[in-house]
Amino acid sequence: MTLDFTELAVAPVRTLPVYQPGKPDSELRRELGVTDIVKLASNENPLGPSPRAQAVLREHAPALARYPDGNGYQMKAALAARLAITPDCITLGNGSDNILEMLARAFLDPDREAVYSEHAFAIYSLVVQATGARARIARPLGDNDAMPYGHDLDAMRELIGPRTRLVFIANPNNPTGTWLSGADLQRFLATVPSDTLVVIDEAYHEYVEADDYTSAVSWLQQFPNLVVTRTFSKIYGLAALRVGYSVSHPAVAELLNRVRSPFNVNAMAQAAATAALDDVEFVTHSRAVNRAGMAQLSAALQRLGLRVLPSATNFLCVDLGRPAQPVYQRLLEQGVIVRPVASYGLPHHLRVTIGTETENQRFLTALQRALGAI
Ligand SMILES: *Cc1c(COP(=O)(O)O)cnc(C)c1O
Repeated sequence: MTLDFTELAVAPVRTLPVYQPGKPDSELRRELGVTDIVKLASNENPLGPSPRAQAVLREHAPALARYPDGNGYQMKAALAARLAITPDCITLGNGSDNILEMLARAFLDPDREAVYSEHAFAIYSLVVQATGARARIARPLGDNDAMPYGHDLDAMRELIGPRTRLVFIANPNNPTGTWLSGADLQRFLATVPSDTLVVIDEAYHEYVEADDYTSAVSWLQQFPNLVVTRTFSKIYGLAALRVGYSVSHPAVAELLNRVRSPFNVNAMAQAAATAALDDVEFVTHSRAVNRAGMAQLSAALQRLGLRVLPSATNFLCVDLGRPAQPVYQRLLEQGVIVRPVASYGLPHHLRVTIGTETENQRFLTALQRALGAI
């Protein structure tokens, strides 16, 4: 008789689903033999890594025999100076996903609850479920709202109770692209009990140009129960290095440090992220390319009669008005990888990362063909 290993796992892990990332282009090459591939599936920067980061990476190879600085002294100093905070507010993560995981480990257990919205970033449900805590999932804003499928802060507030230790808010949200105004968020924070931590995930912060958006970083003094997470995977173009951070009350950072694995951010990642932070020119250029690509894609998609959700990010969530999976497949066959979001409860939508002008055009041509063929 073979051993049922599933029974050996702790209860929360027995039913835990596996995160489904965007399809790597190497996989599409193996599966379909397609060679000329455009990947617009994981909200990466189409311009590649920051040039300053690349220069630092090339220089760093001889130092790789040494363990990284487990406290991330230099990177924290650079971030602290940039954000006008003290370094003891900062926690570094192996991607910001790692921070979300640390938060769940430090603050959740089977007797506690976490609140997040339907259609929110998938990692929230995974990290909560892994601890055995109860997930309270808020109904989203309606189809006719100015931010369709976005976070409904009133609905989220209603689910916060005495057992709630964490609330996850993505601003802007992935996969919808929708955002919350600074005023609405601040009003919400003022109603949350001080023993509930509110995590505001600002993975797309550097892309946001909406007038009513405000980063929560400046509210830390006012709301000590606030945790803000950010990443180097998006505009800084360093997704492969896995580096992100959070800003919180120093006492929260101290608790995260207890559950953090000692060398969670490698030396290359620390050095490259520190250099990328200074690469203001690259960030400005990336934002401009994104702005132009956003205009190009939304105009073309609207000409095709497709509805695009409002987005303050580097991706668009498009309503195809029909099941998206066959369209996704047809795009793959043409070497274009986008992201189906049925697992996020949006089976008629596709999420498309904004690429370079050429990549966007490849996608649009392939989409027209895919829609016509089905
Ligand atoms: C991409 C993304 C992240 C984090 O990615 P890391 O690569 O782990 O830093 C976090 N939150 C949201 C909403 C994202 O879209």
